Amino acid sequence: MIITDDHMHIYKHLRLKAIEEFKRAGGTHVFLVNLLSKNYGVNPKRGEDFKEIFEKHIKMVEEANEIVTAYAVIGVHPAEITILGERIGYRKAAEVMMDALDLAGKYVEEGKAVAIKSGRPHYSVSREVWDLSNEVMFHAFEVARDVNCALQLHTESYSRKNIEEIAEMAKKAKIKLYRVVKHFAPPKIDEFEEVGIFPSVIAMGDNHIKAATIGDRFTLETDYIDDPARPGAVLGPKTVPKKVKELLRIGFDEKLVEKVCVKNVEKVYGVEF
Ligand SMILES: [Zn+2]
Repeated sequence: MIITDDHMHIYKHLRLKAIEEFKRAGGTHVFLVNLLSKNYGVNPKRGEDFKEIFEKHIKMVEEANEIVTAYAVIGVHPAEITILGERIGYRKAAEVMMDALDLAGKYVEEGKAVAIKSGRPHYSVSREVWDLSNEVMFHAFEVARDVNCALQLHTESYSRKNIEEIAEMAKKAKIKLYRVVKHFAPPKIDEFEEVGIFPSVIAMGDNHIKAATIGDRFTLETDYIDDPARPGAVLGPKTVPKKVKELLRIGFDEKLVEKVCVKNVEKVYGVEF
């Protein structure tokens, strides 16, 4: 049986041991997303400075790929606007982030990564930073559209209104909406279907059951961060396999699991298992 976690980070704490744990619990496929520049000890002043981050991340994904099937998602975390902005100014920070997204697109074109990551801050920021963040996210839509890949979004907490606003931006950029993934999504998968954005449901509490009760248009993730200061945050690497097995145990069928862990993933990310 294929079990996929489509948003996990490994960088410092358990590293490949987290992937071993995922595998032992029944996990087979994982999408690994790079973290912030500071997590890699990089202090980017230009877009190309992200090369070091992407290279380090992709090397880690290659190692993980010896254990399970692992794919690289690369991009720029929206909180970089604050981190870089304080050092080089917010306008310049946005430019560096957009250049880094162009670079991420090149890695996708070369087949070294399958998707891009972007978004906008989940914490409150000034009007200026908010507008610049939207500009960066819009650019990410354009890059993903041009290289024909999925885009994972890290954004503010879900509301119907803000997900509709994001969908409007995506439409303006002419990217296919199902390729735009709201990472850390709540199980409101019917609303996501109406709006068109694809939900990667955070496998917290009963979210997996709530989502599966509504339908099958979703994927599951842990957002495992691999941070020694916060071990097991957001959710541990075994969570998605455990929750998928629970779905089967309580009466959901294998067809649902195949849709969530295989078909949806293949469609959204353009990969073939
Ligand atoms: Zn994450």
